[in-house]
Amino acid sequence: MPFVTRFAPSPTGHLHRGHAYSALSAFMAARDAGGRFLLRIEDIDVTRSRPEYEAAILEDLSWLGLAWENPVRRQSDHLADYHAAIEALRTRGLVYRCFKTRKEIDIGRAPHEPSIPYAGSPLPPDEEAERLARGEAFAWRLSLAAAREALGGFETLTFVEEGAGPNGETGLIQARPETAGDIVLARKDVGVAYHLAVVHDDALQGVTHVIRGNDLFEAAHIQRLLQALLDLPTPIYRHHGLLLGPDGKRYAKRDKAQTLRELRAAGVSPEALSYELGFV
Ligand code: GLU
Repeated sequence: MPFVTRFAPSPTGHLHRGHAYSALSAFMAARDAGGRFLLRIEDIDVTRSRPEYEAAILEDLSWLGLAWENPVRRQSDHLADYHAAIEALRTRGLVYRCFKTRKEIDIGRAPHEPSIPYAGSPLPPDEEAERLARGEAFAWRLSLAAAREALGGFETLTFVEEGAGPNGETGLIQARPETAGDIVLARKDVGVAYHLAVVHDDALQGVTHVIRGNDLFEAAHIQRLLQALLDLPTPIYRHHGLLLGPDGKRYAKRDKAQTLRELRAAGVSPEALSYELGFV
């Protein structure tokens, strides 16, 4: 059985230990299975992605001892493909234009309450035409109601989890796309949403195993629905636990977690880092 996995960072900052753990997990799994390891640059969010971070990612991963197949797929080079996928969903009545802002959706919600999953429907054609003519911004949302109808329910949407979700979820998992509500597939500033590009690319690149942090476990539920709607295969998932810092909190870019370049500058060797992360 072929084994193809990938590391798919977004170039919105420098890689830190948590990324090294994730990249090494995928790389080692491919090596152990005699499979393939791909690197994919997920830079569709043009408001946050920067070319210098992409260059730094390649440099840091090489330093770590990783090797990947070339050419590296860069999502911003393929926006037309993702738009075509959204268009295909649109012609089937599965997406609709939503003019509501997050603020409008959250009206009445207390600050401490989680966002309510949004479920909407297309506006009447004349109202929509009017708003479009006024140049109002909108997002394309996936209609859960239409998706449910198209698939005859969500019961058949399952995926295999060989790792574990944050609550120990493992084995055959029943996907619950409804918990996310009608997700945004595209907006004005970010033309394509992450879920669609990931699902599209994993299928195109023949990814058989998605190995990534369990902060993305919930994403698998939505991605499973998109796979069904776009008639794409479902990979096996291996979500891993998140690396915790000395303070017991997860490493994250925004917390100024020590980056791989800082570790390198401080004289840490890639072998020492791999060892520290549990890879020998
Ligand atoms: N690009 C995503 C991130 O940086 C990861 C996507 C994935 O592994 O599915 O968090």
